[in-house]
Amino acid sequence: MGKALIIGAGGVGRVVAHKCAQNPDVFEEIIIASRTLSKCDELKKELDGGKTKVHTAQVDADKTEEVINLINRYKPDIVINVALPYQDLSIMEACLATKTDYVDTANYEPPEVPKFEYKWQWAYKEKFEKAGITALLGSGFDPGVTGVFTAYAQKHYFDEIHYIDILDANAGDHGYPFATNFNPEINIREITALGSYWENGKWIETKPLEIKRTFNFPEIGNMDIYLLHHEEIESLAKNIKNVKRIRFWMTFSQKYLTHLQVLQNVGMTSIEPIEFEGKMIQPLQFLKAVLPDPATLGPRTKGKTNIGCIFRGIKDGKPRNYYVYNVCDHQECFKEVGAQAVSYTAGVPAMIGAMMVLTGKWKKPGVFNVEEFDPDPFMDALNKNGLPWKEDFSPEILD
Ligand code: NDP
Repeated sequence: MGKALIIGAGGVGRVVAHKCAQNPDVFEEIIIASRTLSKCDELKKELDGGKTKVHTAQVDADKTEEVINLINRYKPDIVINVALPYQDLSIMEACLATKTDYVDTANYEPPEVPKFEYKWQWAYKEKFEKAGITALLGSGFDPGVTGVFTAYAQKHYFDEIHYIDILDANAGDHGYPFATNFNPEINIREITALGSYWENGKWIETKPLEIKRTFNFPEIGNMDIYLLHHEEIESLAKNIKNVKRIRFWMTFSQKYLTHLQVLQNVGMTSIEPIEFEGKMIQPLQFLKAVLPDPATLGPRTKGKTNIGCIFRGIKDGKPRNYYVYNVCDHQECFKEVGAQAVSYTAGVPAMIGAMMVLTGKWKKPGVFNVEEFDPDPFMDALNKNGLPWKEDFSPEILD
């Protein structure tokens, strides 16, 4: 039925490629393209012999012209961008120039400013409408499934959602004293930034990791959670009417936080370039180079993730609480696709987002976040593609 160009062959790209190949009726052909061709070729070797035809290509996605040439060469129906957030705009430009649909999992962030906002990508709305193509933004797990969960709660269980708490727990252990589960540069930029949440129509800022709670996660147990700024807060605040507060929480172990604090104190997490032996380097990029590659964590990571949303609001004039979540096992993910659960939980929804657009279920000209579409076919696809979800109507409530 369709041809997808996957840009990025890291942890998430690997999962997307495997998952597309598991759905050959939708993805007849895939092109895996990335900066390092050998990573694409390695994936092709794993996937060759299946029903989906696999091609590979080298591309520097910072260069719109290169992406345009690649699209013109293979003529995909959709581009699945799982490179880094820095490439979002150059790839969207290439999609516009070639009238090709677009899906990503993380919003644009300028390399020199550690601040992610949707304004740069939302600014393309009119251009995509005029070109008659769809851009689906943030179709990973968080953002992504968390927005679909919200649309599902709104559609089936609430007249008004007043409070949303998004909870992302990773109880996996990779055995290293310190490593990040996805791109260390993106991960550390996110965690060391100021925290914030949405309340009564405005942003409330906090110091990094200032607000802490503990939460008893189903199938994982008690964990410390910290309030972070996260991109879906921005789109949900815009798209969910009458919402009073939206917060995002993530678990961190004490060991992780202690290492991070030391690295911060000695200046290793800075993105300000410094001169080193006659060359300008960015400390955070250097740190990334010495930390374990997240793609190598798969075989060593044991334990589970639990990501979900707790909603509070009203239905038929009565208060209602609702918790929907997915539990994912690192080792099972690794057995299936050779990646740990953090990459898996982002890659499966990226494939499903592309599937929604390719099958016409979520095909509409413009730039959209996932919660703007009918959640039902996506929720159904999560159950069928390795991310089944569970519901709880009397969950623990965070103060
Ligand atoms: P990785 O660093 O493992 O992979 C990134 C890939 O993109 C690498 O293959 C890299 O190439 C490639 N790449 C980087 N720059 C370019 C470029 N200029 N041109 C072409 N290819 C490039 O990251 P992850 O796979 O962990 O993450 C991928 C994306 O998914 C990120 O944007 C991340 O923020 C997002 N994500 C979203 C989540 C969600 O739930 N929404 C959760 C986790 C991640 P090379 O191999 O040469 O370095």
